[in-house]
Amino acid sequence: MILEDRVAIVTGAGQGIGRGIALKLAEKRAHVVVSDINGQTARETATEVRAFGRRALALQADVSNRAQVEKMVQATLQEFGTVDILINNAGIARSATLLKLTDKDWDEVLAVNLKGIFHTTQAVVPHMMAARHGKIVNISSIYGRTGTLGDSNYAASKAGMIGFTKSMARELARYDINVNAILPGMIDTPLLQGIPDHYLQPMIEEIPLGRVGTPEDIGNLAAFLASDEAPYITGAAIEVAGGWRM
Ligand code: NAP
Repeated sequence: MILEDRVAIVTGAGQGIGRGIALKLAEKRAHVVVSDINGQTARETATEVRAFGRRALALQADVSNRAQVEKMVQATLQEFGTVDILINNAGIARSATLLKLTDKDWDEVLAVNLKGIFHTTQAVVPHMMAARHGKIVNISSIYGRTGTLGDSNYAASKAGMIGFTKSMARELARYDINVNAILPGMIDTPLLQGIPDHYLQPMIEEIPLGRVGTPEDIGNLAAFLASDEAPYITGAAIEVAGGWRM
């Protein structure tokens, strides 16, 4: 599975799963636009991508801001002349049970996790349509399928991502653009490291494969879906969760 000289944009790639995906794509010989709201961590991941002998461009952009997303895609086209792969990974959580959930918690999560992929997809797709080729991978969550306690805004945004993925798969199939979603379970990232141990350990015990996942576990599937070895997969929502909450 080789992504020789493909150009990939990965959002939220400064750390965690996005960084893991960016490095996996670089290992498979893609050039990577490392986009993140945090310019400093984006530059750090870009340096790691270059260590694979690939080109990297670090771009600061907030996916909830349409103007910043359009600027990021323009900068990508200026540097590389094309976009072959879009990985929509940027995401946030604002946890609270229903009665404590504020409008701000709701709006921020929906703006980044769901409206963000509308912005990035709309900015990138005209170029993929013209090329009659493209791969889009949306990083949803197992919670988009199962729901969860204390994160209804997050689960709703992640379920929305699955609906958007399937709709885009239908709309864009005739341009040879594949659109799929990955549903990670519990993955070892800074997001997870914020959860107290007494809450985390019992959840880990529920995972049939007996461990949390790694960013590389997600990167492996993202790279496969972005490759020419997955031409007949579109509109899929694939769990990478060690069997957790299957
Ligand atoms: P993370 O460690 O918090 O990394 C997310 C990255 O996205 C951070 O660099 C963050 O920057 C950036 N970001 C936040 N808001 C952004 C915005 N508006 N525009 C652009 N970038 C933004 O999270 P992660 O665990 O790697 O999660 C990555 C994705 O996987 C998310 O969509 C998450 O919902 C999903 N996921 C994660 C897990 C898990 O167990 N970790 C499970 C299921 C799904 P700052 O740090 O500066 O905010």
